[in-house]
Amino acid sequence: RTVYVNGEYLPETEATVSIFDRGFLMADGVYEVTSVLGGKLIDFGGHLARLERSLNELDMKKPAAFDDLLDIHRELVRANDITDGLVYLQVTRGSDGDRDFVFPNAETTEPTLVLFTQSKPGLAQNPVALKGIKVISIEDIRWGRRDIKTVQLLYPSMGKMMAKKAGCDDAWMVEDGYVTEGTSNNAYIVKGNRIITRQLSNDILHGITRAAVLRFAREAQMEVEERAFTIDEAKAADEAFVTSASAFVMPVVEIDGVALGDGTPGRVAARLREIYLEESLKAAV
Ligand code: PLP
Repeated sequence: RTVYVNGEYLPETEATVSIFDRGFLMADGVYEVTSVLGGKLIDFGGHLARLERSLNELDMKKPAAFDDLLDIHRELVRANDITDGLVYLQVTRGSDGDRDFVFPNAETTEPTLVLFTQSKPGLAQNPVALKGIKVISIEDIRWGRRDIKTVQLLYPSMGKMMAKKAGCDDAWMVEDGYVTEGTSNNAYIVKGNRIITRQLSNDILHGITRAAVLRFAREAQMEVEERAFTIDEAKAADEAFVTSASAFVMPVVEIDGVALGDGTPGRVAARLREIYLEESLKAAV
């Protein structure tokens, strides 16, 4: 694979980052994942806008001119011959060559910018979407700024491992009885024809796919309600689903062993998946 590190395109085996980088020592960094379908970038503008917001919230410098980031994405897609897959982008605060809790001087310390691709042939035709996923619920013990897309992914990773151990695919995190989000996706339930998903706040990541899906749902005259819902309400819902850049719209058919509806993907989730793939492809760059 060809990867990108701080201005250079290199074979992955030759790419290096300092062991003192604050991304490595302190999870002091942010990231974005953009899907590639048919060689084109999905929702790229949204991901770039969120990256800028994450950097601002953490007082981090921009690692490159934002116009250049599109070129870098495209060059990696080309160099690695990616038809369907992902581009991962990470910015960490870098280092001044030592370990210290205090941020290094931003005037003299450059952030570290890393990008690489992952090939996922047939990403949009993922057969899992036809049978749906099973989730467990776990307590949400993450920090209070989940709206910033940081690389602090230890607890979400543990959540996925707990799900796997329970014979399930993912975990929904619950705080004070209310679902916040999935380990790497936003969570939704459907009651009747109404789509319900938690409102934006610091409690959840402001999903780029979420924003697009809600816009398409409203354009299709579907009813959308942005409010918190409890895990008990979710178990009694007609259907459920999650959204993310890599899963698009993924039906959820079981929560903590309780089957939703008839235990197969719901009509609303299936329709939204179709609309999202069609519309976001049209707007792909
Ligand atoms: N919530 C969390 C915790 C995530 O990690 C992600 C994606 O990685 C999402 C939601 C979905 O965001 P997006 O649709 O921008 O991929």
